[in-house]
Amino acid sequence: MSELNALIQSTQQTLERIARDFTPAVFASSLAAEDMVLTDLILKAKLPIAIFSLETGRLHAETLAMLDKVKENYGYEIALYRPQPEAVEAYVAQNGLNAFYDSVDMRKECCRIRKVEPLGRALAGNKAWVTGQRRAQAATRTSLMVEEDDPAHFMTKFNPLADWSEQDVWDYLRGNGVPYNALHDKGFPSIGCEPCTRAIEPGEDVRAGRWWWENPESKECGLHVVDGKLIRIKPVAA
Ligand code: SF4
Repeated sequence: MSELNALIQSTQQTLERIARDFTPAVFASSLAAEDMVLTDLILKAKLPIAIFSLETGRLHAETLAMLDKVKENYGYEIALYRPQPEAVEAYVAQNGLNAFYDSVDMRKECCRIRKVEPLGRALAGNKAWVTGQRRAQAATRTSLMVEEDDPAHFMTKFNPLADWSEQDVWDYLRGNGVPYNALHDKGFPSIGCEPCTRAIEPGEDVRAGRWWWENPESKECGLHVVDGKLIRIKPVAA
């Protein structure tokens, strides 16, 4: 068995175990390449793992187009969770539309409003959640496990692609004709909100295009526990 086939088989087994032992479980898709591998595996096997996305209000058109591609290809409608309109309005009124460029705290507050709070709603009532995170993606993900405790959400978190390389992801997508986000062909290996993600140059770190104005150590949105520690979202001074 090839190395990729072994990875696929073990990922399928992980997903089947989640469906069997952790119902209800959900998969948080950011509609990027890794997420499409998991979407394909979950939907082809008809596993009872609901897929959702955080529609932050600042996503690229190419990312939003993936919602239709998934519907066309699999007949599946990804559930969307949006930020509370009042929270967005208050942040923008007080700080401006793009205040996330001003400081890490401002950026984390925007992520808290547009991602972290909606994520809490999406995860509520579930036993486990699934992500497309890989260990090799970032300095903040080097100790990522396939299965880990998520104390922030009081549930189990699965990262079934933790052991996959970027090449494995693309070999899977191309080998199985899986649709993928057009941004990947425009120099975006990692995809997030439009104002906080840029294309990278060859040889740059995969996550270099995310919050590129910050240090690598701070580049997470608060959705994930890093090295066993919850990333604190500091309150923004009034
Ligand atoms: S990635 Fe940028 S725009 Fe999106 S929620 Fe975070 S700070 Fe806001």
